[in-house]
Amino acid sequence: MSNVVLVKSLMKINEMKNYYKAYLSEKIPTGGVFSAKTPTCQVTAYKSGKVLFQGSGCEAEAEKWGDIKASAPAIKTNKNEKGQSHLPPNISSLSVIGSDEVGTGDYFGPITVVAAYVDKNQIPLLKELGVQDSKNLNDDKIIKIAKQIKDIVPYSLLTLHNEKYNKLQKSGMSQGKMKTLLHNKAIGHVLNKIQPTEPEAILIDEFTKKETYYQHLKNEEVIHRDNVFFSTKAEGIHLAVAAASILARYAFVQHFDKLSKEAGFTITKGAGHKVDENAARLIHEKGIEVLPHFVKLHFANTEKAKKLYVQKYK
Ligand code: MG
Repeated sequence: MSNVVLVKSLMKINEMKNYYKAYLSEKIPTGGVFSAKTPTCQVTAYKSGKVLFQGSGCEAEAEKWGDIKASAPAIKTNKNEKGQSHLPPNISSLSVIGSDEVGTGDYFGPITVVAAYVDKNQIPLLKELGVQDSKNLNDDKIIKIAKQIKDIVPYSLLTLHNEKYNKLQKSGMSQGKMKTLLHNKAIGHVLNKIQPTEPEAILIDEFTKKETYYQHLKNEEVIHRDNVFFSTKAEGIHLAVAAASILARYAFVQHFDKLSKEAGFTITKGAGHKVDENAARLIHEKGIEVLPHFVKLHFANTEKAKKLYVQKYK
């Protein structure tokens, strides 16, 4: 698809908004002022002053507003509102692989990482099924949505169980590196799964700086870099990340329930005091040697649980 970018004052942009009022879309991308879809051109204006014209009629449409030859060449990326990453301005409407992880801050339970591919044609359906930022959804709702989307959306789920997590951590690997390896691998699986289709972008919910991410991958045989973007709060930027997050949460919750069954009582998510009590009880009832199977040992909760165990049960 061809595109043209013009740079306009905010006053001019408001004038344009008025001109396109019959074609305005409700959906405005991050950092956007308005978005309009005429029969031949998608017009998106940003607070930065950039106005993007996309589609078969984009040149004719852009020429109404200025000399397109004299203006900036078509750009592929644009700083989003917070300026923390360079994202294609229309990213939320592209076909995207999104990836996210769950469980990194939970003392009990594994880390689950999911990369999921959402074709742009699936976006309305996923919205209909309730896919959105999982922070707005409770676990029951997440499970319901996950069950509906798991057969629609191609994805890869990687689960890092605590035995392995603790071994890697003990060997000196940071949690950030573990997550990076998992994201890179999950993205690779999805790229293979959807072949010959290629995503228009890959969006990772940012958990570390891009430089650090690639530093972690420097010894990997396969490193996915093409069209890879990082953003915090990426769940709200593209439904592929929201879907990945929901699927990762679903897997995490299922595993968590299994751990509760194994423990013989309901264990708690997070890393608060209740978690220390759960771990102390687990030491009491099953022995300290079972801990590496259930928890991330290097969390401060381990020492607290040991102390609690002595206080409560000895
Ligand atoms: Mg995340």
